[in-house]
Amino acid sequence: MGALASALGGMLAGTLLPVRARAFSLEPGRVTIGGLEVWDWRDQLPVRRTAPASADRHLLTWDPDREYWRYRLRNRPITTAVIHNSGTRADYNLREFVAIDVNQTERTRYPECPYHFVIEQDGTTNYCIDMSRCTWHCGRESNDYAIGMCLLGSFMDDAIPTEAQIASGYRLLAALQREIPFIQFKPHCNMPGADTWCPGSTWPRWRDRIVPPPADRPQPRNPEFYSPTGRVARG
Ligand SMILES: [Zn+2]
Repeated sequence: MGALASALGGMLAGTLLPVRARAFSLEPGRVTIGGLEVWDWRDQLPVRRTAPASADRHLLTWDPDREYWRYRLRNRPITTAVIHNSGTRADYNLREFVAIDVNQTERTRYPECPYHFVIEQDGTTNYCIDMSRCTWHCGRESNDYAIGMCLLGSFMDDAIPTEAQIASGYRLLAALQREIPFIQFKPHCNMPGADTWCPGSTWPRWRDRIVPPPADRPQPRNPEFYSPTGRVARG
């Protein structure tokens, strides 16, 4: 993520490569959510460019700028943040993880990263898909009101997230709580219709360290998070 690579990318984009209306950048930006600064990868990550199955069409929307089918905007306000594990190797970085998640055979229906937030093993916190999008991370009924936070790794048997992941997860959930004071936090396995161990069988051992206590007083709501077209300002 060096300045040199960034400058080089800019030079290439400006001279050698055809410039699209909204070219993909190789570098994430930074964005602040509830006072917490995180990496902003929105519209920067690998996507699937195949036509969706007809059964999925109504869950997707055509993006003419980026020329692919992406998750549609949510139809309901956000009330819940769902905690997931990726079930993959813990040491993938974000781009490796998303490339696999979008492309591997058993998950081929995902057009792009299914999680709004992904936390890497070293605690790096990534904002992947805008919260206004209804991604596919839990049940079809609940995706419309739930955002997804995924910790990279598989937390079964004795495995638990790293201390850095737990600390970053707590900070992110607390930041979301500042934006949406009445938001609830749930593990994927407790969502309606879920038939999964996600975020892993060791969840009860680290639950209390990653879930912040309820907000002690009501705070002003950020209406942007409640409207289907609401977006978090960049920068
Ligand atoms: Zn899950």
